[in-house]
Parts: sequence; C-alpha cells; structure tokens
Amino acid sequence: MSDFASNRKRVVVWFRKDLRLNDHPALLAALSDNFEIIPIFIWDPKSVDIWRPGEASRWWLHQSLLHLSHSIKCLGGSMLFFSGNPREILPRVCKDYGANALFFGRCYEPASVQLESTIETLFSSLGICCQSFKSNLLHEPWEVSNQSGKPYRVFTPYWRSARVSVGTPPLAYSPSSLKFTKRSTNSLDSLNILPKDQWHNKFSSNWNVSEYGAKALINRLNTDFINSYQFKRDFPADEGTSRLAPFLAWGIISPRQVCTTVLDPIHNQQEDNKFLAQIGWREFSYHLLHYFPHTCDTPLREKYSNFPWRDNHADLNAWQKGETGYPFVDAGMRQLWETGWMHNRVRMVVASFLVKHLLLPWQDGARWFWNTLVDADLANNTQGWQWVAGCGADAAPYFRIFNPVIQGEKFDPQGDYIRKWVPELNRLPNSAIHSPWTASANVLQAAGIQLGVNYPEPIVNHSEARNRALKALDSIS
Ligand SMILES: Cc1cc2nc3c(=O)[nH]c(=O)nc-3n(C[C@H](O)[C@H](O)[C@H](O)COP(=O)(O)OP(=O)(O)OC[C@H]3O[C@@H](n4cnc5c(N)ncnc54)[C@H](O)[C@@H]3O)c2cc1C
Repeated sequence: MSDFASNRKRVVVWFRKDLRLNDHPALLAALSDNFEIIPIFIWDPKSVDIWRPGEASRWWLHQSLLHLSHSIKCLGGSMLFFSGNPREILPRVCKDYGANALFFGRCYEPASVQLESTIETLFSSLGICCQSFKSNLLHEPWEVSNQSGKPYRVFTPYWRSARVSVGTPPLAYSPSSLKFTKRSTNSLDSLNILPKDQWHNKFSSNWNVSEYGAKALINRLNTDFINSYQFKRDFPADEGTSRLAPFLAWGIISPRQVCTTVLDPIHNQQEDNKFLAQIGWREFSYHLLHYFPHTCDTPLREKYSNFPWRDNHADLNAWQKGETGYPFVDAGMRQLWETGWMHNRVRMVVASFLVKHLLLPWQDGARWFWNTLVDADLANNTQGWQWVAGCGADAAPYFRIFNPVIQGEKFDPQGDYIRKWVPELNRLPNSAIHSPWTASANVLQAAGIQLGVNYPEPIVNHSEARNRALKALDSIS
C-alpha cells in the first residue's frame, strides 16, 4: 500500500554516481513535480563490463550507500536495493511501484553510455517518461568545443574556454522537503558489494564516507588553503591537497559545491586558481573519455600501440607491493595499499617508474590503480596514465623520465613521507633515505638495514633503465 494518496505521481530516482541528497538535479526535478520518490540503487553482480568497480571502490560504494540510505531513513523514507541487470529491473520496479517516470544522473563511461541508451529506448517503447540529468560534472563533455566545433586535445585552451562558466551555484532546495517512499526491499548487505577479501577494512580509519565527511574536507578549502595550494600540493607529507577525489568520483559531493566554495571573487580569481584548475583537469578527462572512449585501454597516439613493452610478472609484483628498492616509489605504492589513496605527485612518479623504468604497459598500472584506489575514476585514471606514458592528449613527452631519487629529494626533502610508509627505513639519515644503496655499510648497519634482506636492492639501475626506455621510444619513432 502506498504511503501517499493513490493518485500521487511517483518517480523512480536511480542513484548511480551521484550518491547524495544535495545539489541533485533528478531529486530537484522530482520535488518540482511533486513526485513521490522511489530512490533505488542497482548492483549488477554479473556485469561483464571490464571496468566494473574494483575492490577499493566497492568498499567505498558500500559505505556511501550505507550513509545515503541512512540519510533517507532520517527523512522518513527508504532506499530500495536491487541486484541484477538494470535493463530488467528498472521497468519492473516502475511497474511494481506504479511509477510514472524514471530519473537518473548521466554517467560517461562507455558501458554506462550504452546502458543508458538501451534504457531510454526501452522506456520510450513502454511509454514511460525517462529523463537523465547532468549530475556529476560542471559541463557535459560535449558542451565545450574549439572554434571548429572539434574536441580539445590540449588542457589550457580547453580550460580557458570552460572555466568561464564554473561559478554556477548548487541547486537551492532542502532535502527535508523531498518526499520519499516508505516501502523497503532487500538490505544493502544482501547485495554483497563488499569484496570477500578483507584487505580494505583498514581504510575505515582514513575516511569518513558521507556527505558530512565531504563537508568537513570542503570546510578546509578556505582562502589560506587555496592560496597555498600551488606551493604545497606537490609535497606528499603535507596535507596540501583536498582528498576530495573519492567523494567526487561517487558524487557524494558535486563539483558545483566544491567550486562555489573555492570561488571567492576577491581572493581567488578563476585564472590563477590552481585548485580550480584541477577540477578543470577532471572535466577535461571526461571530455576526452567522451570523444575517445577507446582510450581506456588503447593509446590515443596510435604509434604507441607498437611500443615494445616488457612482460615481467616479478617486476610488476614488486611495483604493486612497494618493493622496488626505490623508497619514494615504494612509499607511494604502500600508501595506496594501506589507505586506498595516493598523493598526485607520487602517482606521477610511480606511474612513470612502471612505464619507463620497468617498461611495463601503462594498462597494467591503470588496472592496479583501478582495483586499489577509492577514487578510481575511469576518465581521470585513463587520462593520468596516458599522460605519464606520453601516449595521451596533452601528455608529458615519453622522453621526460622522472628520476625517482631526485623526485623524492625535491618533494620529500626530510624523508617524512618515506618514513611513514616504509617504516623499515625509519632510522636512515636524510642523506641516504632516498637511495639506501648509496649509504656506507656503517650507516646501513646503524639504521638496521640489510639490503636484499629487510629492504630490497633497487630492481633496476636508473641510468640503464633510462637508456633502455629511450631506445624503446626510438624503435617506434
Ligand atoms: C597515473 C594517475 C592516475 C590517476 N588516477 C585517478 C583516478 O582514478 N581518479 C581520480 O580522481 N584522479 C586520478 N588521478 C588524478 C589525481 O592524482 C587525483 O585526482 C588526486 O591525487 C586526488 O587527490 P585530491 O582529491 O587531494 O586532489 P586535489 O589536488 O585536492 O584536487 C581536487 C580535485 O581535482 C581533481 N583532480 C586533481 N588532479 C587531477 C588530475 N591530474 N586529473 C584529473 N582530475 C584531477 C580530483 O577530482 C581532485 O579531487 C590520477 C593521476 C595519475 C598521475
């Protein structure tokens, strides 16, 4: 029996990557039309999409849904959970609940785009209103184009054109005015979203996965933070970045909410706001994914399809475990494993190490990140890896090879980051923390390090690896 008068219109709001109640266009549309809202989430355990959520993302997703369903409960409603193929479930739910419409926020990953298109066709044939909304981006990927109407391939002109309209405020409504159904179905736990392997349990101490958690991080984005961002953001031992990425990836917070906070018209002009530019990179990544969807696992620059990558499981394993013998790289890979997140500077260094020092395919790295990052985001991850591998749009040229020792010395001069994540190197002096193999036997002994025993020897020699990478590049030039 309905909780509302039987003649009340009902809408199914399908939550996907907009797991919040504020600044949610589909919810606002439901509110404006005075709909009773049937909020649903569908988990498809048999999805054949190779980019279905990885393990760390599944942990994040479960926590997000826990919070969202609790928030809906506090407003007197119930979130409905379903397991199966959305193509079958959505029409069934509309029928069973007598819904007149389906609303959802658009996603942009190739499999999601295909799914949305099938559902729109299906609903049109059923004569049920089906409406999608821009929920998780400032601009639709196709809304920004160059003067010839073509997609941008270079960030700076893209952002010059896109940033003009970033000041749009979040939608103004109060979630308490939304009218949710009270009927409930399966429990969240019954979906079995959490991966069986429990390695993610330790993430809980690092993240408050909720709109409150996002709000707490956003509250840090004051003028001081934004002004010092450009200086601090490269130093991984500092708290110089926002850590909002997983909240943005799952839409617990919208980019509009973030931008409004940092757009102080007096202090933070759009042009030189480096923080805002990072949100711009996110938008640019979606722009690229939309126009070049094949790039999730194929290089945008075709000549890189013939790159002579190595196939070496032992090296890949050492990289994944943070046992390469290069402390800055190992610290990053261990931070990732322990917390589901890695600092951007270190992401660039570890990615470069994989593709240039180890000559292993960037796709292997992208897949590892996909499984272990709580902020795994197909657009950003693809763009990030292709940028480092030199094969994407506006990418760092392949011949620019980060020296992992110099990167560490520059961005972790006191070795604090390394000492935190590679505690066995704790007692090494700063002069040796970035390159333990250069330390004398006495220094190593005093620090309790036996190279090859309790900390690895470097798995490659930097100069040799550099020459090998340049030679490989020559072979496709
Ligand atoms: C190899 C590689 C893989 C990456 N994979 C991902 C990924 O899967 N998901 C992801 O969100 N980011 C990815 N990034 C981009 C970036 O590292 C993270 O967004 C950032 O470290 C998140 O931390 P933060 O929220 O503190 O960022 P902040 O510095 O506070 O930036 C604010 C927001 O801007 C966006 N952003 C920042 N830098 C970038 C960037 N370079 N490209 C696109 N968006 C950016 C993020 O949404 C971020 O939350 C990757 C970068 C590299 C080099």
